[in-house]
Amino acid sequence: MGSADHSVTNTVSRRLPRAESWLDDAPCRGMWWLTDIPPDLTRHHARASVVAAMRPALELCADCPFTRQCLERVAPRESYYDGVCGGICWRNGEAIGGLTGVIAGRAA
Ligand code: SF4
Repeated sequence: MGSADHSVTNTVSRRLPRAESWLDDAPCRGMWWLTDIPPDLTRHHARASVVAAMRPALELCADCPFTRQCLERVAPRESYYDGVCGGICWRNGEAIGGLTGVIAGRAA
């Protein structure tokens, strides 16, 4: 049996090569699941609901010295990321909020 990880998740940990040693000191280490948007929060949920649900992860980011590295490696816009990365809650690659509140949506 191979050791490849075939699970399909969007966590920060899986976007980051394990060679990135700073990950071992990141506040979210061992709690990667906190950075995922829960599956019951679909893209139809209001931004405020999603951001509120992601508050525990956002609070970890607030104490993280690696937000720049995290954003560079995950590239949330380019990867259409769903989850928390770099102190921001992302949905489908769009920044929707952070600890200070919800970010207004794009104009139609
Ligand atoms: S910025 Fe947030 S998600 Fe990224 S490594 Fe730090 S605590 Fe984890």
